[in-house]
Amino acid sequence: MSTKRDFYDILSVSKTASVDEIKKAYRKLAMQYHPDKNPGDKAAEAKFREATEAYEVLSDQTKRQKYDQYGHAGVHGQHGQHANMDDIFENFGDIFESFFGGQQGARKKSQRQASGPQPQRGHDLSQRIEITLKEAYLGCKKDVKIYHFEVCGGCKGSGCKDGTKPTICSTCHGAGSVVHQQGFFNFSQPCTKCRGQGATITSPCGECRGSMRTQKYETISINIPAGIYQGAELRVVGKGDAGVFGGPAGDLFVPVDITPDKVFHRREYDLVTTLTLTYPQLVLGCQIEIEHIDGTKELLKIPKGCAVGKEIIIAGKGFPQLRGGARGRFIIVTACDIPTKLDEESRSALLSFAEKLGNKSQGSSGIAGFFKKFLG
Ligand SMILES: [Zn+2]
Ligand SMILES: [Zn+2]
Repeated sequence: MSTKRDFYDILSVSKTASVDEIKKAYRKLAMQYHPDKNPGDKAAEAKFREATEAYEVLSDQTKRQKYDQYGHAGVHGQHGQHANMDDIFENFGDIFESFFGGQQGARKKSQRQASGPQPQRGHDLSQRIEITLKEAYLGCKKDVKIYHFEVCGGCKGSGCKDGTKPTICSTCHGAGSVVHQQGFFNFSQPCTKCRGQGATITSPCGECRGSMRTQKYETISINIPAGIYQGAELRVVGKGDAGVFGGPAGDLFVPVDITPDKVFHRREYDLVTTLTLTYPQLVLGCQIEIEHIDGTKELLKIPKGCAVGKEIIIAGKGFPQLRGGARGRFIIVTACDIPTKLDEESRSALLSFAEKLGNKSQGSSGIAGFFKKFLG
């Protein structure tokens, strides 16, 4: 500590300088030597740190007094004492904001042990996928094309040119953050010199320019299990962005959208369809072949006097449950086909039938009465 320069000399102010003069002097030096303005310049960085330390002491009445009385020994290691950082924030907020992109006061030396660059996990990504209801029923394989960061092939993720290594950051000593002290409190903020990485790459890899990763398209084949439901989200581990400093890759999330089908729909685990029959088919009963969503045929027996909206249930032919176990049901809901145009022959046949029907149910139903009246 004995080799330390005099704080007044550092700021080029007299021993009787006013607080304003000290601030002005520091502002000038801070602008000149700030590391962000002098990347890689060790001398400038040292000057910046020196000036900041001098300013911290001389701008604080108590510290300045002790410094005047005892020299460097008077202000060294007085961490328990109130450091008037508010003053710095307040008066230099504009400078520090433009330099640091946020509220960050004068730097103190990092109090953390050097720990080297910290591995960072890559980001998770999300890529929607659209499938048909049939594909959801049967399960399918789909390719998705994603644009993500991969570990750079040129440097295997080191970011460095062959045979070189990153340089541990001299500001944070590899910690990636610097600890500031205010009163009794320590708070750490990301190191601005190395952008929180703890190290800087001095000879970057030509392929990734030191970023350790390259952004590429990749087509990934996704297995979609049978029974997948609308809004389900599949996860492909490790297919998000690659990590840095040896951190793991993020995951790829694949939310599944199922396009509505014209014929079938899903109700819980049941596969549901509507079967439209003619009035005589419903009345007299019939056998009819229908096609299941999987393409197989089902022979249905429509009972005599089948109501509209009746559900014919075939067990075990619905959606499979994702975690094994039973399947849902195949449900066929009956509907009646109402012709909008009739030839004369059909019309008269229907009329005579209506006459009969009307007579039969007259008095028992207001609707039948209306029907009769309408036709008459
Ligand atoms: Zn590279
Ligand atoms: Zn650093």
